[in-house]
Amino acid sequence: MTPQQFRAVYPHFMAWITRTLDAHARDAQPVASKGFLRLPLYFGRELLASAKFVVVERVPMPPLTELGLTEFSAFERADNDAVTYLDTYFVRRGRASEEQLHFHELVHVIQWRLLGPERFLSIYAAGLEAFGYRNSPLEVMAYDAEALFAQGREVFDAEHRVAGLLARMDSRMEG
Ligand SMILES: [Zn+2]
Repeated sequence: MTPQQFRAVYPHFMAWITRTLDAHARDAQPVASKGFLRLPLYFGRELLASAKFVVVERVPMPPLTELGLTEFSAFERADNDAVTYLDTYFVRRGRASEEQLHFHELVHVIQWRLLGPERFLSIYAAGLEAFGYRNSPLEVMAYDAEALFAQGREVFDAEHRVAGLLARMDSRMEG
């Protein structure tokens, strides 16, 4: 995807996200309401109170093909367990009580927040195109942190960790 293409689809993409979040606003609950015991060891109180999740049968995916981004059709069709848009993530019903999955999506909430929507989407799309879903840089960051959480050997400040990794990614992209 060229920068011109990105600029052309970005407003449509954001409009779709706004519509999708509005449509589910009544079903969105703060993560803190789940009462998970380990998440507060890794995330600040403010994040857990402001980030929200919505339980769904099927997670909503943006109409990428319709927007002309046919290279992302496999991603669009993938039946994922969860997906994050801004400060809200959607979780498939059967997995809504898995603390580890919430951990992963909260890393994406932090990425959205620190990068801002435009940079998040451009980095995510570029990573998806170059490396595929699992090896795209923002997913690697989320999966690596999730693996540490699953091992449970060390407790760390996830927001601090993600901020550091994003800063390093930035300096690599500039260098
Ligand atoms: Zn992810």
